[in-house]
Amino acid sequence: MSEQDKLERKRAQERRRSKRYRERKKAEKAKQEEQLGVAKVELSFSSSDRDRLDVMRQARAVVGEPYSREEYIAELIQQDEQRYQEQVAALGCCGKCKSPLPQGCDGVFDGDSDCWRTRQYRELML
Ligand SMILES: [Zn+2]
Repeated sequence: MSEQDKLERKRAQERRRSKRYRERKKAEKAKQEEQLGVAKVELSFSSSDRDRLDVMRQARAVVGEPYSREEYIAELIQQDEQRYQEQVAALGCCGKCKSPLPQGCDGVFDGDSDCWRTRQYRELML
């Protein structure tokens, strides 16, 4: 078998593996939707954002079938939530009021340069 054939065979195997993975994910999602109840959400995007969405859901699938718009957006939401929780866990307490963040003083020291809520809160923004 030539190197080219081996490479082709390996790629086909990876595609099948990827397909099985996606099918398993799809089945898990269907089961989860059934258990949790799924609501339809309508979103409006500019044509350039829609184009980027379509490029990226293909790019992130790498060799497999592109993620659906729904899968792609849902995955981003989950990843952002994860990131947010990690950021919050790393915050600790406010230098001014010593209260746990992001709640902190709840606005008592708003404007105080030592209070996290005055400027540093932006770290949590997108
Ligand atoms: Zn504070």
